[in-house]
Amino acid sequence: MKKGYFGDFGGRFAPELLMPPLLELEEAMERIMSTPAFGQELGNLLEHYVGRPTALYHCARLSEELGFGVWLKREDLAHTGAHKINNTVGQALLAKHMGKTKLVAETGAGQHGVATATAAALLGLECLVYMGAEDVVRQAHNVQRMELLGARVQPVESGSRTLKDAINAAMRHWIAEQEQTHYCLGSAVGPHPFPLLVRELQAVIGREALEQFRRRTGSLPDRVVACVGGGSNAIGMFHAFVPHPEVALIGVEAAGDGSPGCCHSATLSTGTTGVLHGTMTKLLQTPEGQILPSHSLAPGLDYPGVGPEHAHLQALGRAEYVSVTDNQALAAFMRLARTEGILAALESSHALAYAIGLAGTLPETENVVICLSGRGDKDLEIVRAALSKSE
Ligand SMILES: *Cc1c(COP(=O)(O)O)cnc(C)c1O
Repeated sequence: MKKGYFGDFGGRFAPELLMPPLLELEEAMERIMSTPAFGQELGNLLEHYVGRPTALYHCARLSEELGFGVWLKREDLAHTGAHKINNTVGQALLAKHMGKTKLVAETGAGQHGVATATAAALLGLECLVYMGAEDVVRQAHNVQRMELLGARVQPVESGSRTLKDAINAAMRHWIAEQEQTHYCLGSAVGPHPFPLLVRELQAVIGREALEQFRRRTGSLPDRVVACVGGGSNAIGMFHAFVPHPEVALIGVEAAGDGSPGCCHSATLSTGTTGVLHGTMTKLLQTPEGQILPSHSLAPGLDYPGVGPEHAHLQALGRAEYVSVTDNQALAAFMRLARTEGILAALESSHALAYAIGLAGTLPETENVVICLSGRGDKDLEIVRAALSKSE
């Protein structure tokens, strides 16, 4: 495979001024991350700070109700309540080894901003987070969390004043201050080496899940399911299972309000090939290449692109991508709360909704492992508003 590519997808479609820091990062990744010292340091932080390995939980009641084995990989139990910390702690540590003193990051709903601010505080790095002005208002509590952790939040007033504009602003900042700065990108997207770097740091999810499942049952699961926004928790969950063709891989995107042609984030299910944020992938765009607005009730799934490796796994037929609506995700959120006592993130509830939809179609002996990417406390206001609207 061509370096930096996943089949026909990926690559490094970056302006000339962005090439030096991208090449520096690629070189550092290859030189530093494979050393035993780095592995040991990261392993220590993952165990004692992040709280890994996270549990693999067999849902007794939900399995009984659905008629097959339901298992949850509990990323909601990681520090800060989601998988995002695996990536930010890893990138912050790499930045430190590279001699950088500052992290710059983008954030949409604020979850990646909080995870970056957390890792920066942990490792004594300065932190600047670009956030769409629209999102700064909508997600005021996350702005507060970032500031309490010592980060500076910079509102972005350009474009649609949301995530994609914050990514552009963070990349511009990186160009201007590349000497001392590392750009801590939040998902498996962007120009090479980011999709590879983020996958390597999130692959711990699937490595653990495979080992835990094998230890408990002596075999491998039949299906592995994860929600897909940019695709980092999904690629992290899938990676260890890719070489095992007997394990079906299913990525679940947001169909939004369910009306065709608008108000969703189902990039792989409905998008077309193009370049966004430096990578060749599937996108929501007009025939002329204008990026379309995305939507999901789950803030973390609201992105008009997707990680290039998912586009490749889809093209190969190795993974399948489906979508579920806001209402199906909401129903899944409620169901897990009442049957298992777990408030899942709305993002993760999309993966759960797909599994719930399989009820009555699978043999009792089948096992489905779902990546529960995060906890739902952050979404209580959205859930309350949606429930009161549907009453
Ligand atoms: C950000 C987020 C996602 C979506 O991001 P991916 O890169 O697709 O994993 C999913 N779940 C939670 C809990 C998130 O915070």
